Amino acid sequence: MTQADEVRLSRPVLVVPVGSWEQHGPHLPFDTDTRIALELSHRLTQARAQTYLAPPLPITASGEHSGFSGTLSVGTETTTSMLIEIVRSATWCGGVVFVNGHGGNSPAIQAAKKVLDHDQQNVLFWSPSGVADTDTHAGQAETSVMLALSPFEVDMTLAEVGNTQPLAHIIDDMRAGGIRAVSSNGVLGDPTRAAASDGLKLLEQWAHDLFADFDHWNS
Ligand SMILES: [Zn+2]
Repeated sequence: MTQADEVRLSRPVLVVPVGSWEQHGPHLPFDTDTRIALELSHRLTQARAQTYLAPPLPITASGEHSGFSGTLSVGTETTTSMLIEIVRSATWCGGVVFVNGHGGNSPAIQAAKKVLDHDQQNVLFWSPSGVADTDTHAGQAETSVMLALSPFEVDMTLAEVGNTQPLAHIIDDMRAGGIRAVSSNGVLGDPTRAAASDGLKLLEQWAHDLFADFDHWNS
């Protein structure tokens, strides 16, 4: 039997990492969200039978990061369409799991979910949770995870504290003027406190949460 035959007969679950290409302060790479989503997706496909890893979506909705060099975005509408069309094209699957690494994709995910639920598609949208609302972008949590995953891609000599106010206090200014309006270095949190050991723990916790949500959805 060829690999294509096996895929066709078993109707596996497709796991799609959803990343981004956006500024993550001066110290982290542009594909930070993609790397994290890919790592968690990879762990899921290693841990659960009948799962199949898709290539990650590398450029999504990052409009809130415009004004920072390097950021690329295809916007919420296009991201929504990508999520919907990937599911519709994967007719050989029993279901699709999107592992999302970028908070700015939430509106696209909500819109896609509405359409796919209406289509009666079997889809799980998953995003990591449990990070403090004072540490939401390129701060202690994300930098710790990257130190654990890909230390040579992190330049801690450039890490500097950003805006550490709770998200609720800055969200209106952010919606109006993007991250630029609330943080000149693009950071929301304090990456100088990051440590690889904390990153490993966070990855373990996220993987645990993902597996539990997957099992619940797939039961
Ligand atoms: Zn990020």
